[in-house]
Amino acid sequence: MLQAKYKKKLDDLLAVCHKNLRKVNDDLIIRAFEMSVEAHKHDLRSSGEPYFGHPFEVAMVVAKEIALDDVTVASALLHDVVEDTEIEIDGIRREFGDTIAEIVDGATKISNIFESHEITQAENYRKLLLSMVNDIRVMIVKFADRLHNMRTLEYLPAEKQQRIAKETLDIYAPFAHRFGLAKIKWELEDLAFKHLHRSEYEEISHSLNAKRREREHYIRKFIVPIENRLRQEGLQFTIEGRPKHFYSIYNKMMKRNKPFDEIYDMFAVRVILDTEENNACFTVYGIVSEIYKPIPERFKNYISIPKKNGYQSLHTTVVGPEGKMVEVQIRTRQMHEIAERGVAAHWYYKENGSQAPLDRELENWINWVREMFDQKQGEDVSPKELIESFKLNLYQDEIYVFTPKGDLKILPKNATAIDFAFEIHSDVGFHTIGAKVNGRIVPLNTILRSGDQVEIITSKKQKPNRDWDKFAITHKAKAHIRRYFKEEERRLAEQGREVWEKKARKAKLHINDDELTKFVHTRRFDNLTAFFLAIQMEQIDVDIVIAEIMDAGKSALPEQRPEETGSLFNKFVDTARSITSGISIFGTKGDLLYNYAKCCNPIPGDDIIGYVTTGEGIKIHRRSCRNMQSMLNNGEERIVHVEWPDATSSDYIAGIRISGEDRKGLLTEVTDAISNYDNTNIRSVNISTKDTMFDGQFVVYVRNIEHLNGIIERLRRVRNVSKVERFDE
Ligand code: MN
Repeated sequence: MLQAKYKKKLDDLLAVCHKNLRKVNDDLIIRAFEMSVEAHKHDLRSSGEPYFGHPFEVAMVVAKEIALDDVTVASALLHDVVEDTEIEIDGIRREFGDTIAEIVDGATKISNIFESHEITQAENYRKLLLSMVNDIRVMIVKFADRLHNMRTLEYLPAEKQQRIAKETLDIYAPFAHRFGLAKIKWELEDLAFKHLHRSEYEEISHSLNAKRREREHYIRKFIVPIENRLRQEGLQFTIEGRPKHFYSIYNKMMKRNKPFDEIYDMFAVRVILDTEENNACFTVYGIVSEIYKPIPERFKNYISIPKKNGYQSLHTTVVGPEGKMVEVQIRTRQMHEIAERGVAAHWYYKENGSQAPLDRELENWINWVREMFDQKQGEDVSPKELIESFKLNLYQDEIYVFTPKGDLKILPKNATAIDFAFEIHSDVGFHTIGAKVNGRIVPLNTILRSGDQVEIITSKKQKPNRDWDKFAITHKAKAHIRRYFKEEERRLAEQGREVWEKKARKAKLHINDDELTKFVHTRRFDNLTAFFLAIQMEQIDVDIVIAEIMDAGKSALPEQRPEETGSLFNKFVDTARSITSGISIFGTKGDLLYNYAKCCNPIPGDDIIGYVTTGEGIKIHRRSCRNMQSMLNNGEERIVHVEWPDATSSDYIAGIRISGEDRKGLLTEVTDAISNYDNTNIRSVNISTKDTMFDGQFVVYVRNIEHLNGIIERLRRVRNVSKVERFDE
């Protein structure tokens, strides 16, 4: 039985649900409510109040301010249950089914992801964004959760306030914008602004209050003649002064470097029409223009060309009484819903059926996010690039360009002709030989601008060029170009394999793929594909390779690498091992004979295993060694557990290879980057520059693998550095 105070809350929530949602499963809400009360009964919030107040308020936001459906409300009630109480996700699944369990699970995980949007987390980030696209309700719960946390931020320690406010501004607000949740976005921004710039916030708030009467009076005067005319036309409408949010005023003040008074002489009014006729908006535009003189260059038609998040409206700026500028926004009720509640409203209309155009827009939106993240497995896009491309698309504006037939294409700012080509169709992209912008032939790397008319010239014979990847910026174009070259390499490697097999047969060389793989590893090829590709590209001479293998005799395939592997590396490995005191086998440091495998060169700190060989004692391999599988195939009993001794006060040493385009000051910057990262000590440096290329090998002291990875991540951010890797061969 619920206590009286909870009964009241439950009634409130149900009432709000029935008011705002089309259908409500009372039983579902009640059960979620009861489980949440029970699960959180011993917890308190930072404010000292019972914890349940939080999920309850989050559910209220979802029911009232976003108003999607009852499933989201139930999920909101349960959103912290798994994270903060004993109940597991399976418990929720049993009780409420898969959908709610997925939403709760997604919302739980997404917090962690957003909190650490480190580059190394990109893969998780991608998975989550995908799951969130599959069910946008994950994000809706998350936005509501964040909104309530921001509303109650003052109970947290100051430092935490700053971090959360900043994260809200950096991540949640732009996301909310993408989801079209304008109201939520504004409130998030204003709340974050309040905590990050308290005095500026108070100044604006004070100034707005001081001028409220004056402003309301003016708006009244401006609106009356419009209201009269609209009524004469028999239109149903609402007209209101539009509140500006604090953060945008602040941004304007900063951008234009002007005081409040000069920014806020701009008034804004909104007309919302209760009709489904989009054309009525243009009628109203005409009427407003008759009453007040419009400023033509400020007219924006987002009805014919909606923003990518689905926003539609007409914007016009007119000269009002006393010569003051007033911005008027004109939209239908449905456009208004979408403007305020974005994807949630889309969802609503979609469920309502019969709204085909909206379906299509929602679909476009979902495709947009999907395209961004949904690449095939194994495709060669680094997490860093992925995040950058996502940020680009999340934060930057869009441009509107046209095909010769006048079809509109929306691209991110700074998109080039090649992006446009792939936007039209991958086939067009692949066969592009040139582009015309506004009738003039331009290079393919030309950056397009809104309003450009772009024509792509194609030829059946044309093939993608490797340079394209450098100036394509959309994920779509980049993915196609990279996939093409991957495919191309695979094809050439196939041909290379045929060449190889033919010659090997002729020479009567019998060698299977495993053996050949071992051999190509000694030649610094990552795998057979790379080896066959080199054959086809005539980078290596097959006859010589065959002769070499025949010479060595198959059984004695060289495990050791050729001498030129670099004496620095050998020296490095020796030193690395000498600073530890051997390894322990079966947990004891016995007198067993062991040595280090040359295929993977383990160094202290690596995760290792021992492999019992015949005659050579135990070989120490890295657990990630590429020969691991074949060792396992030879019998699991031959693998033994080995360990490095406990780390002493002395650190381990590790090698890092850095390459990139040389420039003045690069070495200093790289060295600084290393030593400033957690006070890392550098043991030795070996640099070579060839033409304009920089190639450096650094040996550093690290405490563990995380430390090493941290340094590597840091180095990747140094300008002009194109490759950073741990050096192990
Ligand atoms: Mn929460």
